Amino acid sequence: MAELLAVAAALLGLLVLLLLRRPQRGASQEDWLPRELQGATLAFAETTFRSSSRRLVARVDRAYRHGGQVVLVELKTRVWDTAFATDVIELSVQRAALADQTGEGVSRFAWVLVESPTTRKRRPHRVELLSDDALDELIERYRRIRARRAIELQPAARPAMCSKCGHLGRCRSTYQDRPKGTAI
Ligand code: SF4
Repeated sequence: MAELLAVAAALLGLLVLLLLRRPQRGASQEDWLPRELQGATLAFAETTFRSSSRRLVARVDRAYRHGGQVVLVELKTRVWDTAFATDVIELSVQRAALADQTGEGVSRFAWVLVESPTTRKRRPHRVELLSDDALDELIERYRRIRARRAIELQPAARPAMCSKCGHLGRCRSTYQDRPKGTAI
């Protein structure tokens, strides 16, 4: 009986330890909320949105309802305590996907929450997102570049053209119809 009690106590201790060590996804996660978002309510967490008109898919870390709008928050763990232009683009894509799918008004201002990998301290950085027109232009440019690259990356039309090419070794592993000869 005493042994059973000891095992039960040990299991209970382990459970308490695990519960204490679990990442705090509730109230404490909101501790970092900037003054501008105080009183906001969590609307979406780690949710994927799709825009069929723009052909976009984006995953939203956090989105809060505040002042009649949805405000996006992106969590980044990085050494540099700053927000980058890539964060702005990522959040702008999220904004378009969320707005297009739900029809909700999404704020042009968002937050990048930077967490230090060493101290675990979090600091929010406010960023202004791209306008709809600027984002559409960027998407269009990106798609044009991708399409052009796809054309540029086509192999030589005839495998015989490759026999003396310095890239033959690499291309042969991609395009099996390339000649077996040694490249110069
Ligand atoms: S080996 Fe590759 S890079 Fe060289 S000509 Fe052929 S396809 Fe082009």
